[in-house]
Amino acid sequence: MSDDLEFPRHHDSLYIGGEWVAPSSSATITVVSPNTGEVIGSVPDGQEADVDRAVEAARRAFDDPAGWSTRPAAERAAVLRRFAQAVEDRKDRIAALVSAQNGMPVSQAAQLEAVYPAVLLRYYADLVENQGEDVRPGLFGGSVRVERDPVGVVAAIVPWNFPQTLASFKFAPALAAGCTVVMKPSPETVLDSVLLAEAAAEAGLPAGVLNIVPGGREAGAHLVAHRSVDKVGFTGSTAAGRQIAETCGRLLRPVTLELGGKSATIVLDDADLDLAKIGADLFVPTLANNGQTCFLGTRVLAPRSRYGEVVEMFTAYAGSMAVGESLDPATQVGPMASSRHRERVEGYIAKGRAEGGRVTTGGGRPSGRDTGWFVEPTIFADVDNNATISQEEIFGPVLSVIPFDGDDDAVRIANESDFGLGGTVWTTDAGRGLDVARRVRTGTIGVNRYLPDPAAPFGGVKDSGMGRELGPEGLAAYQQLKSVYL
Ligand code: NAD
Repeated sequence: MSDDLEFPRHHDSLYIGGEWVAPSSSATITVVSPNTGEVIGSVPDGQEADVDRAVEAARRAFDDPAGWSTRPAAERAAVLRRFAQAVEDRKDRIAALVSAQNGMPVSQAAQLEAVYPAVLLRYYADLVENQGEDVRPGLFGGSVRVERDPVGVVAAIVPWNFPQTLASFKFAPALAAGCTVVMKPSPETVLDSVLLAEAAAEAGLPAGVLNIVPGGREAGAHLVAHRSVDKVGFTGSTAAGRQIAETCGRLLRPVTLELGGKSATIVLDDADLDLAKIGADLFVPTLANNGQTCFLGTRVLAPRSRYGEVVEMFTAYAGSMAVGESLDPATQVGPMASSRHRERVEGYIAKGRAEGGRVTTGGGRPSGRDTGWFVEPTIFADVDNNATISQEEIFGPVLSVIPFDGDDDAVRIANESDFGLGGTVWTTDAGRGLDVARRVRTGTIGVNRYLPDPAAPFGGVKDSGMGRELGPEGLAAYQQLKSVYL
């Protein structure tokens, strides 16, 4: 690890209005390593006064008649490409910092957290630059010119599990559209946001266009309700999403909500169960980031005719994972992000047992580890879809194998969930896989693989949220349409 990634890393200022400014109070957020329990850094804990200051800076930058929102798209795109480069220049440090804070194995952080922000900044720079004019012949004569105006000041509220990726799902399209942004990282993952601010400053993002205020739920709630905010982009729990939606409903404020999930991994009866062939593709949609990923298919639906084989395959698969410190490049499953979160995951494992589930591998803490918030990758067999562990989001490395009888039954069970975010279908028949995928009520689903693609809309149905990020749809979410009748 390079010298400048020594720990602890203490920061005493906030990035607001293009400057590093003193916070309004002496309150701090302390970040603790999930690997060791030791303090690895701190940042100011943003208070309402800091949020106010950041929103005012974003408002001023947005309302400037010669500012960011009024610049030609090509000019904004050029700045965003420089921003992408500046982020990319920091990619190793970003991956290591995220991994050190939330326990994401560093190999996964390097492939995801260090990659998505630069890819998205470039993607949206290209998209907005090529958007072109939209002039339509009017049905009542004349013509109509459709303008795509930036929606205004954006509040971007981000969770701890993919702090860089999920922030960029919001700031990349928002900035491309001409919006200005106030971002609030989650208290668990604040140190990496300092690198993001540095990259923004280095790229020459004008003052006030991106402001970052680390803070807790109160700061988040204050930001969401702030009178000078025009749009909210939120990723997090369904419970917090509901509160934010209530506030936005009252204020008639547009909001995009990416919430929890409990997706289905549907193994059809013709699936290839050879781990040597499918193991690598199975990882992202079932165990990525220690199970702390919203789209995971944690309900494995198995045909009754091959139930034993599927349980055996998943048992071997989960049992083979290298569990270890997140910064070790060989680690596949690291610790839970916090001790409180591990307690939650362990509570679900206990509940799964109490409701009659049979643990076939894992179920406890790995032996020989005295520090860190580790949980063994765990497989439950003999689980009913109505069990608590089948219906509630665990957010840990815990999968349940549920039997079904025929494709229709698999689709029925997959859809018997309050959530609808991800999912996969495993089959050797591509046509059958697509047919089943189309019948599952979900925002995204894969056939024999799964990875959210920047070019395609991502989001959920039911309690998994509303609105979409990524793709051209993710840009449209930060644009206001205006029809000019000519
Ligand atoms: P969380 O809801 O507790 O917190 C998320 C963020 O919102 C944090 O920054 C937090 O400080 C802030 N916050 C919390 N309550 C708020 C409120 N009332 N008003 C404003 N801000 C508030 O979630 P978490 O534990 O950090 O993240 C895990 C959850 O996020 C899981 O449920 C997971 O499924 C979900 N998630 C969803 C997606 C997706 O794209 N659908 C992606 C990743 C994570």
